[in-house]
Amino acid sequence: RVPIERKLKLAQVHKQSKAKRKKLFISRVLAMATNTQDQQSQAGRHQEVGHKSLLQSDALYQYILETSVYPREPEPMKELRELTAKHPWLILPIVDLIGMSGNRNLMTTSADEGQFLNMLLKLINAKNTMEIGVYTGYSLLATALAIPDDGKILAMDVNRENYELGLPVIQKAGVAHKIDFKEGPALPVLDQLVEDEKNHGSFDFIFVDADKDNYLNYHKRLIELVKVGGLIGYDNTLWNGSVVAPPDAPLRKYVRYYRDFVMELNKALAVDPRIEICMLPVGDGITLCRRVK
Ligand code: SAM
Ligand code: CA
Repeated sequence: RVPIERKLKLAQVHKQSKAKRKKLFISRVLAMATNTQDQQSQAGRHQEVGHKSLLQSDALYQYILETSVYPREPEPMKELRELTAKHPWLILPIVDLIGMSGNRNLMTTSADEGQFLNMLLKLINAKNTMEIGVYTGYSLLATALAIPDDGKILAMDVNRENYELGLPVIQKAGVAHKIDFKEGPALPVLDQLVEDEKNHGSFDFIFVDADKDNYLNYHKRLIELVKVGGLIGYDNTLWNGSVVAPPDAPLRKYVRYYRDFVMELNKALAVDPRIEICMLPVGDGITLCRRVK
């Protein structure tokens, strides 16, 4: 039942001139817009640096994972993800030594980003690829499963042990033959590649997920090595959301140290005329750079 007061009010509104109703409508829309702005600034205020997903809602992120990522995750990737979750770096106090804490695996690529990379590589028909920063190999496996049987991944990491932890899963998936793993710092390998002109413009896709203080050094070389029309993906370009943290924000040592490098990279990529860019809030932020000249 509609209360009598409400009925009277409705009748009154109906009687109002068209102009008055329009005014009322506009003021309601304005009130809604102000509310939305308030909500947005509140969301901005409560954004915790170090949030697992850059989405403001953990429930939404969980929804994405449970609805479209986990049910479609290839079995070997699931196995590798679960194996990585047991990695000793999660348990050992080394995480505190470098100023990190918590029970999340801070190194590995998230399952939704793995799914994104896998799809992206298929969309661009990538065949000759490179990865800098392998860890236990989750993004590497996402790549290896996406490229054709005669596709290649030049994979580099200073740490072979972690790669070897995930290697049995990659072998079982039948894609290890696509991987050429090089242990050691990536920069000298890139320098060697650049020296030989036949490597110029030879890579379809390059994923960079290693030492953030070297990303600009990598970019100088990678831009020569990726083909025109090819892609470089720089990972963690939103750096735990810290790129928008105020100067006095209580950031973990590790986050603070690399933050300026990430911000410098973001600025440099934004003005680089050799590439088109797209910064996506997937995982910890990934900037896709398409070489145009
Ligand atoms: N892409 C990986 C995955 O999906 O699990 C995560 C990579 S992890 C965030 C960063 C890796 O970069 C570490 O395994 C580290 O050993 C490696 N790394 C650090 N400095 C490096 C360097 N100068 N050259 C090559 N790899 C490096
Ligand atoms: Ca990463």
